[in-house]
Amino acid sequence: MADTTQPKTTIIVGAGVFGASAALHHITKHPTSSITLIDRDPYTAPTRVAASWDWNKVIRSDYLDPTYTRLGLEAQQLWRSSPVFQEYYHESGVVWISPSTFGRTAIANFEAIGADVDVEMISVEETKKLGGGCFAEADYTGITEVLLDRSSGWAEAKEALGSAIRAAVDAGVRYVAAEVAGLVFDEEGRCAGVRLADGEVLAADRVVLCTGAYTPALLINSAPGDEKMHAGGRILAFGVTEGTVPLEEGKAGMLDTMPVGINDNPLGRGVDAGCLPLPKQGEIKTWGQILFRNTVTHPLTGEVISTPPVAADYNQWDVPPVLKDDARHALKSLFGDSISGEKMNKFRICWDAATPSGDFIVSPHSGCEGLFVATCGSFHGFKFLPVIGKYVVQMLDGELDAELEKKWAWDRELPPTEGNKQWPTREYREFMGQAAAGSGLS
Ligand SMILES: Cc1cc2nc3c(=O)[nH]c(=O)nc-3n(C[C@H](O)[C@H](O)[C@H](O)COP(=O)(O)OP(=O)(O)OC[C@H]3O[C@@H](n4cnc5c(N)ncnc54)[C@H](O)[C@@H]3O)c2cc1C
Repeated sequence: MADTTQPKTTIIVGAGVFGASAALHHITKHPTSSITLIDRDPYTAPTRVAASWDWNKVIRSDYLDPTYTRLGLEAQQLWRSSPVFQEYYHESGVVWISPSTFGRTAIANFEAIGADVDVEMISVEETKKLGGGCFAEADYTGITEVLLDRSSGWAEAKEALGSAIRAAVDAGVRYVAAEVAGLVFDEEGRCAGVRLADGEVLAADRVVLCTGAYTPALLINSAPGDEKMHAGGRILAFGVTEGTVPLEEGKAGMLDTMPVGINDNPLGRGVDAGCLPLPKQGEIKTWGQILFRNTVTHPLTGEVISTPPVAADYNQWDVPPVLKDDARHALKSLFGDSISGEKMNKFRICWDAATPSGDFIVSPHSGCEGLFVATCGSFHGFKFLPVIGKYVVQMLDGELDAELEKKWAWDRELPPTEGNKQWPTREYREFMGQAAAGSGLS
């Protein structure tokens, strides 16, 4: 029977985890619906600008906030069992070296939920013996105990993302590889579709923006004169550097047994650094500790926003020396001098969107009927690929749980960012030079 409760046509802009998962869940829940998923990159492209496109990502449910503990556990069940995802998930365990109370709080959250998770705090000496002693030389400054979550691990990110999109396309979603230049509005100011960069207009009953770091710029470009459409202080585009290093033949064996390693040390450098195995390539991936924004003045409105660099690939492969060193330093934090960063040969800047609280936005846009926003992974969104779309569709159907509706609302109280280590304060141009940064607002 036809599903008459659904709008006839939906456009989802952005095929990262939010857009891909939303498309898959939408077509699964409403098989007769018409969904168009648009991204500037084909999903089969060898590289993409999506933060979700990556060699690998950490999959864990250890969180300070029990909402994400529950969501992480729900996602992990599918990572383990869904034919779309299970092939790409590796439960290697996750080790988190932190002088804070993070580990104890994460465990208390599991206990409060009654979750069956193989997790404990272990001593530094025990940590040094894990994975054949891979973290024996990590930076344990100020550390008395370490979180070991054996029920977590990592995923082959681009492969899992591609699998989700393929599953959506196989189920009837139409994928369009094109740049969206702006939103289109009808006479009442309702969102009526999108205008592509070549001028073509695609009409739809509703549009969902899953556009990650580009969201603030796209909203201003779409309605420069209408401030209520703009993201303002809600969303900040930011970058983090990652890199990969091939291991020497004698060391490559450790990739099959090493857990994911995350280290808050050294504290003064920024946020946590991390290292994940890439066994198929014989490599390790790292991410650095420096979060940075790219502040520009919008040429049409004079508004000051952060946005990825103007180039089609966000200049993501053009990584300056200081940021390369940041990706290398993650090796130092986890492996000491036992793995040298000298051979690190691939570097990438990954551009994501953050909110001041670190909570996603999954919400109607209050400034425009027919427009919805589902993005802002805030440096932790990938792991939810198998489930986040379920909540996006609940939001679209007006069925989202009241607590999540409030937490992920477009309009919500924004906490102060002063003193928040997760809030990017460094500037891209510190590392790249003013001219290279560009406005990203073409
Ligand atoms: C270095 C780094 C490491 C991370 N590690 C982890 C991790 O280990 N585990 C974890 O859970 N999370 C991790 N994250 C966070 C996670 O990657 C992101 O939160 C998540 O991928 C964001 O998904 P998204 O769908 O919102 O955005 P994206 O994945 O960025 O997707 C947005 C998409 O929108 C498209 N788009 C934007 N504008 C337009 C337009 N105008 N026209 C057409 N297409 C457009 C882009 O091409 C892009 O494909 C990490 C982030 C970074 C930066």
